[in-house]
Formats: sequence, structure tokens, C-alpha cells
Amino acid sequence: MLVYNSQVHRKQELEPIEPGKIRMYVCGPTVYDQIHIGNARTFLSFDVIRRYLMYKGYEVTFAQNLTDVDDKIINRANEQGRSAAEVATEYSEKFIEQMHRFGILDPDIRPRATREIEAMQEMISLLIDQGNAYEAANGDVYFSVRSDHAYGVLSGRDLDQLRAGERVEVNDQKRDPFDFALWKAAKPGEPSWPSPWGEGRPGWHTECCAMIHRYLGTPIDIHGGGADLVFPHHENETAQAMCAWHAPLANVWMHAGMLQINEEKMSKSLGNFYTLKEVLDRYPANAVRLLMLQTHYRAPLDFSFDRLDGAVSSLERLTTCVQNLRWAAESAPQDGVLSDADRVLGAAVDAAEQEFVQSMDDDFNTAGGLAVVFGLVTSCNKYLSEAAGQTETAVTLRAADALVELCQVLGIELEAEAKKGEGLPHELVDLAAKYASYDGDDPAEAANTLLEARQTARSQKNWGVADAIRDGIAELGLMVEDTPAGARLRAKKD
Ligand code: AMP
Ligand code: ZN
Repeated sequence: MLVYNSQVHRKQELEPIEPGKIRMYVCGPTVYDQIHIGNARTFLSFDVIRRYLMYKGYEVTFAQNLTDVDDKIINRANEQGRSAAEVATEYSEKFIEQMHRFGILDPDIRPRATREIEAMQEMISLLIDQGNAYEAANGDVYFSVRSDHAYGVLSGRDLDQLRAGERVEVNDQKRDPFDFALWKAAKPGEPSWPSPWGEGRPGWHTECCAMIHRYLGTPIDIHGGGADLVFPHHENETAQAMCAWHAPLANVWMHAGMLQINEEKMSKSLGNFYTLKEVLDRYPANAVRLLMLQTHYRAPLDFSFDRLDGAVSSLERLTTCVQNLRWAAESAPQDGVLSDADRVLGAAVDAAEQEFVQSMDDDFNTAGGLAVVFGLVTSCNKYLSEAAGQTETAVTLRAADALVELCQVLGIELEAEAKKGEGLPHELVDLAAKYASYDGDDPAEAANTLLEARQTARSQKNWGVADAIRDGIAELGLMVEDTPAGARLRAKKD
């Protein structure tokens, strides 16, 4: 399969270091606030990449850090009169909670910066010993970019050209403006740890590098993050690894495109953001996933609530199709004898499964994969309407299973989405007692009895009763939908 390596700006055949295994690392969040949906897009992209590699049979080891000590955390703590540790603990928990809601698989390894001080100090000592880092008069330790001949290779930058354009932190402790802090001397009131260079805390670029080395070993197969991390974060990570252990940090560097609003990058500092929490409070996680995966992970993604509403409808199209297929298979069993229509549907399922893999094998083209899934939905709906009542059970169920499985590779859980409607309100029992003399106590049974009673009333042109049943159902937040396979209840659209 082909994977785009941002270091060489082209797709390459994926060649795992150890056959059948992939070790990957994705830079995690700085835990000072709820993450926004831009951050979530990057995490989602790598969740799907990981899921697909697993689907292809790779044994994937996935690590992601939590940056739980940083200027932003310290500032937030000072604003709120709390300790940095309290802020970091709260937002680490909130991050993990939102990741779960979004259907992101937990990493196998989740190191936290504050618990990895020793590994970082070992790496810094090694860099100082080898002449790649120096201790400044104030107790900071800096990486010397001039000591690394390969500096700039990952992001394709030349130090001398950089000097003119890029903004860097001006600091009279540095020998070169592009030198970056591996260790920051403690300021009063800041969290700090003892070190050979005095009390202090690690620099951001240091943590990922030391953690990768400790937990996965270098080089790893895939290192990921958002495209905004290429420079300086990843450039600095790879420089440290190359100088410390004389080996690249990663074979393949993958970067997710930015989520934008009105063509501008979503970011906390611009204030143009929505938190993942507020979006998931209003929309199903599966719809948000669907929206994001309809764009290739490397391309910029323009977010709008109109587009998200569109994704909600698309998701409904998918779940309705799966439900109708299952309904048809249950209510009109026809085994064995295949009609032309059955064969056509069977072939469409085979083709969809193959084309899905072809798309995803091409640098995780989820947009292409979803187009294949929706193509299959069209074939299924055509089959259902043409073969109403004559659907062949095995073919119909296979089509339903294929839709569910392909979506599952993308982390879109159609079955769970469909099941949400299963918790029918108990008031249906009373309604069925009133209009259909139902005397049981099962809402699902009551629902079927009501639908039959409505059908009977309609066929007898007894519109008053049919409408009263429909209205009673509507008052419970449900609606009657007439499908090719018969009437059924579903949640009312608002
Ligand atoms: P941070 O907590 O700022 O380090 O960000 C966590 C992750 O979110 C990093 O991988 C960033 O590259 C990524 N990220 C930040 N803003 C966006 C955005 N607008 N779209 C996509 N990814 C983003
Ligand atoms: Zn990192």
C-alpha cells in the first residue's frame, strides 16, 4: 500500500521495519483546555489510519503522549488560581472522555511528560556530551541547530533562508536564534524537577523524542501529527533523535491537513473554534466522523454546520439502508434461488469491497472509500425497491454486513447508530392498548401491533383511526416511515 511521506513529498510503498508490525506515534494535545474540532480532525485521521492498518492485518503499536507541563498550562493555572498539575489532570481526563465519545481507540501507550523526566534528562545529557547541546548561563539547555548538518531536512528549510523569514523566540541565552530549549530553568511558582542543570522543566520538543525512544525504539514506522507541527516541532524532534542516537526518528512522516473555518485555520488563538465537546453535544459522533472523512486527510477541510447537517442526512441514508436490508431479510425470507437482481447485488458487494480497499491502499483515501460505500447504498436501495418482497436472504444480509463492516473500518458504527432507535418509549403500550386492544407490556410488540392496526385502518379507509395512531406516535417523538419492506417506526427528525 502507498503512504505519503511528507519528508520526501511523495507516496511510497509502506515497508514496515519488522514484517507485519507497525510502530506509530502521534503527538498528543497540550492539556490546558477542551480540544477543538481541528485538533480532533488530526486525531481522527490517525485513528482511521491505525484502524485500517489493523484491518490489513498489521500488528499496530500506537503511542500518543499528553503534554501535561507547558507554558499554556501554567498560564491557565495562574489565571484560575490552581496548580498546573490540577489543570493538567482535569483536561487530560476531559480529553480522554471526548476521544471516547468520538470513537477514537485508546493508544496502547499514553506517556505523560511529567512522568518521563528521567528519559528526557538522559537524552539531554547525551546531546550535551556529544556536542549537540549546551547549558546557558541561566540554567536553560539549548539544542544547537548548527551542530546538526541535517537540520531543516524534514521541513525542507535551509537555516540561512529561515533566518530572514521565520519568527523565532528571541532570547539572549541562545547562540543561534533557531536553537531551541531542551530544558527550561525554573521560574518562581512554576512546576520544576531537579536536574544536573538545576531546577527546571523539559521543553516541548524533547518529550516526544524521548518517549518514542523509550517506548517504541527508534526509528519507528510512522510518526504523525497536524501539518502545523512539521516546523519547528517535528524538525526539532528528528534533529534530537539523529544527533542523540544516530538514527532517524521515523521512517515515514505523516501530516494531517488543517481544519478551517471560512478558509482560515481553526485555532484557539484566533478564537474561531468549536470545541469537540460542544459539537458532540449537538451531533452524533458518527456524523462528525463521516463529515471529516469525506475529505482526504492531507487536504484542508472546510468546516461548517451546513456541511455537518449534510453529513447527518448521509449517515441516515446509510443506517436506513442497513435497517431496510435487515428488515427485508427478516420479513420476506427467500432462500437459495438467485434471480438476476440478486446476482447483480452480490456482484456490487464484491466490487465495493475491492474498490474500498483500493482507495484506502492509496494513502488512506477515505473520501474514495466513502464514495464506494455510498455507491453500494444506491445499489442496495435499487435492489430493495425493485425486488420488494422478493429479496434473497443471504444476498441481502451480505450487503447489510458489507456496509456495516466497511464503515466500521472507518470507525463509523452503523449498527450502534441504528440501535439507538431501539429504546422504544413505554407509552407505546398504552397507545396500543387504546387503538389495538393490546394487552401485553412490551413496547416493541406494541409498536408492531400499532403499525398493523394503522395499516388495517388505512386499508379500510378508516382515516380517523389511522391518523390518530400516527399522531399518538408523533407525540412520543417517533414517526411512521413507509419503507419498501413495510412500515416501521423511527426517531422523528427535527
Ligand atoms: P496542540 O495541542 O496545539 O499541540 O494540538 C494538538 C494536535 O492538533 C496537533 O497535532 C496539531 O497539529 C493539531 N491541530 C491544531 N490545530 C489544528 C487544525 N485547525 N486542524 C487540524 N489539526 C490541528
Ligand atoms: Zn511531538
